[in-house]
Amino acid sequence: MAHCCQHHPPEKHQSAKFKTALWIALLLNLGMFLIEVFGGAHIGSTSLWADALDFLGDSVNYIISIFALGMSLYWRATVALLKGLTMGIFALIVLLKVLWSIFYGMAPEAMTMGAIGFMGLMANLISALVLFAFRDGDANMKSVWLCSRNDAIGNCAIMLAALGVFGTQSIWPDLVVASIMAFLGLTAAWSVTQQSLQERRDSQVIQSRRAD
Ligand SMILES: [Zn+2]
Repeated sequence: MAHCCQHHPPEKHQSAKFKTALWIALLLNLGMFLIEVFGGAHIGSTSLWADALDFLGDSVNYIISIFALGMSLYWRATVALLKGLTMGIFALIVLLKVLWSIFYGMAPEAMTMGAIGFMGLMANLISALVLFAFRDGDANMKSVWLCSRNDAIGNCAIMLAALGVFGTQSIWPDLVVASIMAFLGLTAAWSVTQQSLQERRDSQVIQSRRAD
């Protein structure tokens, strides 16, 4: 889930094959973000939106890993700050959608919801496998593993919610899972924002010391 995949400083060098793996993971995560946003809107599933939050956050992480290698700490922290704010706003939108759905929502279409949850699980597993297969010597594989495991738990929660919706024809399984995931996403966004603000301050202190 969203709290796992915070930005880690990019490694000093990246092999071409690890960069390819990062690109594959980026495209899979970005694709799933779009599928869950539009699919969730189409079938009325709020938990798909909450899951999309994590795919968005992870996409930004891969973008930082691919493009931020040559950037200064200040700019990396600025990108992370934008990510934290975007995720926070997105999580709030999901929570508002939960509130709205309590009064006006209908049970989502369970089959499609479960199928998209399964696609998300596959996308996360393939990302993890590709990153593992193309890993660099000094790449932080432990964080990739922890991150993928937590994301897979989130995808399975979506499938369980779909099963619950299917069994009860009620909106509640969708809303409960959406609330938990959006709350976790909000917490993650808060800590990413705090950390990146701190890093921006730190880098400015270093800058001004250099100027003296
Ligand atoms: Zn994640």
